[in-house]
Formats: sequence, C-alpha cells, structure tokens
Amino acid sequence: MPSCIAWGEEKTQVCSETADQGYNECSQSEDQGYNSCSQTADQGYSECCTWWPCSWGCKALVWVSNVVCVAWTWVSNIVCVAWTWISNVVCVAWTWITTAVCVLWDVVTTIVNAILVTIESIVGWVLSAVAFVVELIEAIPFVGAIIRFIINVVTTIVVMAGSVVDFVLGAIGIRPEKILRVCTVILKDEKGNAVATNEVARQFLQLACDVYKRDANVRIVPSKAFQYNTGFAGAETVDDSWIMVDGSNSDSTLLDVPCGSANSALGLPASGFQLKASTLCFFGAWRRVAGYGAPVTCFIIRDVTDALGCQVMFTDYATIEGSLTWPPPSPRTLGHEVGHACLLRHRCVDEDNANMMGTQDECSPASTTLPDRANPRFSEWQVLVIRASKHVTYF
Ligand SMILES: [Zn+2]
Repeated sequence: MPSCIAWGEEKTQVCSETADQGYNECSQSEDQGYNSCSQTADQGYSECCTWWPCSWGCKALVWVSNVVCVAWTWVSNIVCVAWTWISNVVCVAWTWITTAVCVLWDVVTTIVNAILVTIESIVGWVLSAVAFVVELIEAIPFVGAIIRFIINVVTTIVVMAGSVVDFVLGAIGIRPEKILRVCTVILKDEKGNAVATNEVARQFLQLACDVYKRDANVRIVPSKAFQYNTGFAGAETVDDSWIMVDGSNSDSTLLDVPCGSANSALGLPASGFQLKASTLCFFGAWRRVAGYGAPVTCFIIRDVTDALGCQVMFTDYATIEGSLTWPPPSPRTLGHEVGHACLLRHRCVDEDNANMMGTQDECSPASTTLPDRANPRFSEWQVLVIRASKHVTYF
C-alpha cells in the first residue's frame, strides 16, 4: 500500500479515537454536573429555615437554582458534543485533503521520474564525465578536500533553501515519497579478501531501506542507470546488485580509519575514498558535484578504529565497520551514518534508546543505557531534516 494512504488511514484512526475520547469526556462531565446539582440542591433544602414563609421562599429559591444548574449542565453537554463532532469532521477532512495531495504528488513524481531517469541514464554519463574532472581536483589531499568542503556547504545551503516549502508541507503531514541514492562498496584487504560478506552489506542496507521508508517515506535506491521508482510500492528489497566489491586491494590507510582525526577527514584517507567514489560510483558523479540528490557512498571497511562507523560532515561518503558475521555489533550503522550525511546529529540515548542517532556519549554525563541498534527509528523532527537534505529529492 502506498505510504501516503497508509498514513491517511492511520491519521483517520487517530481522529476517531480522539473523537471517542471527547464524547466520553463530555458524558463524564455531564454526569458529574447533574450529580453536583442534586447534591447542592439537597444541601440547600436541608439548610432551609423551618418556619413559614421563610421555608417556602428558601425551598423555591433552591428549586430555581437547581433548575438553572441542570439546564446549564444540559447546554454545556450539547456544546461539548457539538464541538467534538465538528473537530472530528475537520480532522477527517484535513486528513483526506493531505492524503489526496500526497497521492497526487506520488503520481506526478512517478511519471516525471520515468522520463527523467530515462534521460539521465542516457546522458548522465556525459554530465558525470565533466563532474569527474571536478572530483579529481577534490581528491587532492587537504587542498582538494577543502575545495570539496566549500562546494558541499554551498550546494547544501542551496538545496535546503529550495526545500523550505516541502519542509512546511512535511510538517503539516504531507510527505510524498522522496528518493535517497546510495552506492555501496566493500573494500578488499591487503590479501584481496573482502572485509565483509555481501550478506552483511545487504542486511545493513535492508534495515536502512525499511526504516527510512517507514518513518520518513524516503525510498533508498541504488545509484545506477534505469532505476525507476514509484511511491506506490513498499521499501526496496536489497539484492547483490546493490553491492560492489572493490576490484583492487586496499591497505591500512583506507581499511582501518579513525573517525575523529583531521587526517582522515582531509588527508590521504579522504583522498582515497573520494577517488574510489569517483571511479566506482561514477554514475552519480554529476549529482555529487551539483549536490542535488547526491548519492551517499557507503564504504564497508575493516575497522573504524574509534567507532562503529563514520561520516565526516559535508562529505558524500560514510565508512561502516564490516564484519564477517551477522548480526554485527550494530546493524543500524549504515542507516545511522547516512543520517549524519543528511545532517542529523547525535541524540542522547536516554531520550529514546531506539533512536537511530542515539548514543551514550551525547548524554551528560554519558549514559549507561545501550542504544537499541537492531530496531532503530527516527523522530518527527529528524524525519523533516532528512527530507530537506540534498541527498533526499523527488527527482
Ligand atoms: Zn554517529
């Protein structure tokens, strides 16, 4: 079922639950109202004077105020019920409108994408050849990395500025499907052995595909030619065609890379990863340089020496610690690092231990709660940030 319609049904359900609760509260306060009227009246009668005509006047007064009290309770209940009914109608109508816009937009992107993907698959190579030259410059250690950083900051700002309207629509619940492209590369060690099995890479990817689609209505797809998409299908099923095993061996410079060092962000490792992205993930080069729908290159390496994965801000690649066994220590790592590429920051694990970006170090003092790395999810705010990212686009 398309996510738009599934969400619409979910929201309609919430509308009707809210209405039921509203009607309950109305009838509860109505009962309470009648009770308190009659208690007040009883007390009033009992406190009346016993001699005529005082007793007569007193009882008449109590009787009248009781009638007013009952009438008032009755009217308040009518208003309460009417208000609940109207709120429910507005809630349902709004859900229909947002769902209709969402579905319509999915139809438009499906058609336009079919045309654009075909064109890109044919002429994208030419654009990427031009972009390849820029990427070669970006691969120069330090100087190139700084040039790349500047280009990426500028394109990030431009694309995010262009996403403002979409961000607002997303905030009010209109979230048609968007696309996030990935290119996944398993490195080979000095002896020519892949540092992770395809199965492990597939599982990393599948978890990310499922969570991004479920929480953000973002379809993760492989960055390759003739990749047609539609919002009317569920999350992609990852197969081996998504995964590339690097043809050449690497040494420790790229296999065992710390995350928190300037050298790995700007020096030889950065240069090596940039070159591999440019050559192995050549098809997406023009998008990487232009910044629109830039694919995220996911390198499965042997050891991220001070973490499980790494993503340097304003780069288009992430490194993920491979493992020859499943499950690895952190099945969510690829989805987590792609989240960083979409400018998500860490969250303290104590706020939500299942959050995709939850870490112990983000809490002060550091938390002792372990993140639930097997069943990650995104918060509403994170979803909006992801959808505004330059890696996440309609076309
Ligand atoms: Zn992280």
